[in-house]
Amino acid sequence: MSIPFIDLKTQYRQIENRIKDNIETVLEHGAYVMGPEIGELETRLAEYTGVSRAVSCSSGTDALLMSLMALGVGPGDAVFTTPFTFIATAEVVALLGATPIFVDVDPVTYNLDADDLRRKIRHVKENRKELTPKGVIAVDIFGQPADYDAIEPLAHNSGLFLLVDAAQSFGATYKGRSVCSLGDLACTSFFPAKPLGCYGDGGMVFVNNEELHKLLVSIRVHGMGSHKYDNDRLGLTARLDSIQAAVLLAKFEIFPDEIAKRQEVANRYAELLSRVDGLTPPSVPEGNVSVWAQYCVLARDSEQRAEVMAKLSEASIPTGIYYPKPLHLQKTFASLGYKEGDFPVSEDVASRIFALPMHPYLTAEDQETIVKVIEG
Ligand SMILES: *Cc1c(COP(=O)(O)O)cnc(C)c1O
Repeated sequence: MSIPFIDLKTQYRQIENRIKDNIETVLEHGAYVMGPEIGELETRLAEYTGVSRAVSCSSGTDALLMSLMALGVGPGDAVFTTPFTFIATAEVVALLGATPIFVDVDPVTYNLDADDLRRKIRHVKENRKELTPKGVIAVDIFGQPADYDAIEPLAHNSGLFLLVDAAQSFGATYKGRSVCSLGDLACTSFFPAKPLGCYGDGGMVFVNNEELHKLLVSIRVHGMGSHKYDNDRLGLTARLDSIQAAVLLAKFEIFPDEIAKRQEVANRYAELLSRVDGLTPPSVPEGNVSVWAQYCVLARDSEQRAEVMAKLSEASIPTGIYYPKPLHLQKTFASLGYKEGDFPVSEDVASRIFALPMHPYLTAEDQETIVKVIEG
């Protein structure tokens, strides 16, 4: 039997009846848009993450876009973020006419390097007078929290907002606190492959500030005012579907258990991989919990990565590279004027990293098989 990269079928078998019942309920009540499941999901996930409000929406990308719109980001603003992330993180900045300013990552966690963030904020203040430093987007790459105790004061002491891109890290904790409760706003994604995924696209914004909450709710539906056909500002069509909320409510019931299972899988990988020369398994600082959106291993060099991936491919074991090209080298950002060598850690990691199958239902036997193939 082949080993899937992410096993959503086995998960479905665990909760098939609950999912079908929840979807059936939506089909019966007929409130396909903003039905009762939406409020229920928002309340449940706000409670779980420890924030006062959660605003569901159509994707992780739209969660980020809505957040930046609520924070008033526009042309002339500089927003600091990592180049070692999915395109959406910086894309939303540019979509609003603002300028992404990249900051290199830490070589162990692959998250924003606070020292480089300090340097880049100072550099923009001193040398880019045409730009207004406006905010920081920290990403919890592969499900592991960024270093918020170092990043938050750097942002706030400079008068910048801190937005948490928790698209890969819903359920992760930083020193005992949910990552979705950190920063001024936190965003997650319910894309099927994320740790908590629906059966289509979906996302959510987590917030404690009432004013921002009101703005997000308005922006989600065309900048709606107090009356349905009052439009106070520009907005989007960015609602989550009731059916997707119904799926998420069913999946959320087993989510804490799945996080525990993910830790077992990650621990087992780390132990098995210690047998292989040249491979560095991921490491999570003491006191933090990753949700292992991806299990990414660093090879000695790009040659070893190619060899290992070829062996696994021959054995029909899927792998992936997250991410092969840092954002500062993407064609879409050519106008920002970055070049190869600008972010040495991100570029080095991109050339050596690869992901192994990772999901809560991965068996010890399958993990043994995977590592034996790597060794062979
Ligand atoms: C997946 C992802 C997003 C975007 O989420 P979508 O739901 O696919 O729009 C944003 N940021 C990061 C880091 C992601 O991994």
